[in-house]
Amino acid sequence: MFNALVVSKNEDGKTNAAVEQIGLDDLPAGDVTVAVEYSTVNYKDGLCIGPGGGLVRNYPHVPGIDFAGTVEASDDARYKAGDKVVLTGWRVGEAHWGGHSQKARVKADWLVPLPSGLDTRQAMAIGTAGFTAMLAVMALEDHGIKDGPVLVTGAAGGVGSVATAILAQLGHEVAAVTGRPETADYLTSLGATQIVAREELNETVKRPLEGEVWGGCVDAVGGEMLARLLGQIKYGGSVAAVGLAGGAGLPATVIPFLLRGVNLLGIDSVMQPYENRLRAWERIAKDLPMDKLEAMVHSSVLSDLPELGRDILKGQVKGRVVVDVNA
Ligand code: NDP
Repeated sequence: MFNALVVSKNEDGKTNAAVEQIGLDDLPAGDVTVAVEYSTVNYKDGLCIGPGGGLVRNYPHVPGIDFAGTVEASDDARYKAGDKVVLTGWRVGEAHWGGHSQKARVKADWLVPLPSGLDTRQAMAIGTAGFTAMLAVMALEDHGIKDGPVLVTGAAGGVGSVATAILAQLGHEVAAVTGRPETADYLTSLGATQIVAREELNETVKRPLEGEVWGGCVDAVGGEMLARLLGQIKYGGSVAAVGLAGGAGLPATVIPFLLRGVNLLGIDSVMQPYENRLRAWERIAKDLPMDKLEAMVHSSVLSDLPELGRDILKGQVKGRVVVDVNA
């Protein structure tokens, strides 16, 4: 038997999350059984753990949209016992039991080998948020980052923190948008050269085009902030849209696309093919300074997760939360 965070649904429709002992026979079908070492807490985990259940497709459910650990048993020739592996995406932690557990069983196709240069804790300090930040930076690079500061919204959150550190490491000026002024020193330590108050960008768009300011943007917030910043992107620049922490609506006009050739690039970390995953993880190992990564990380344990799930939905988590599932 081993420990897992189990989310169950009561008869009244409310969910309850608690650490329970479960067995290997309880795990869903899959080719590879992994002894999980670390998982994380992402915004989606907050939705899964939270009272409404959010994205969860089946109950009881084990959340945890990513994990890193050691293969314990494998029916797939690509993996053998003892191999270190990482998983992000594929609706694990939503439709398939995830990493908030000391063991997980998944399809071999969903795994990637732990990239050289990273240990399992570092891989989860990066986790889905960092992986997504890298995909966003790569998408901006593919379309050309213009001169001028690159804007990162939701900067003190998981995706924003990693995006800030990677862009700064690559030599870009980074303007970090945050609603928490007290995180300014933290964001500067990650490499941000400018701190932009959330309120400055959070007004409903009044003019579809404003002055051209930003050479590109990684946007974790969406909503009114995304609508507003589209009108401030330099001619031909791009916005990599990652998230909706500030809302799913988009009260924008088509004008920035028509008159400034702005590109709105949707980033999906969930269904990325294997080759893209490997490429992104290799770039992370190369371009993310590990000392900055340490500054972003908080450690937690399985029993902390119900509270952390609530905190992340309120935008109160700074940086990345790594869960040591065996502590
Ligand atoms: P976090 O909660 O760690 O960060 C989100 C940040 O957004 C907060 O820290 C806060 O930053 C800011 N924020 C929160 N609420 C608001 C608001 N109402 N208005 C403006 N800003 C707000 O989450 P993650 O970084 O893990 O994820 C960010 C988003 O990206 C989520 O929507 C998540 O679902 C999505 N995501 C998408 C992925 C994909 O594949 N496309 C993968 C991973 C995440 P600050 O305090 O600095 O203002």
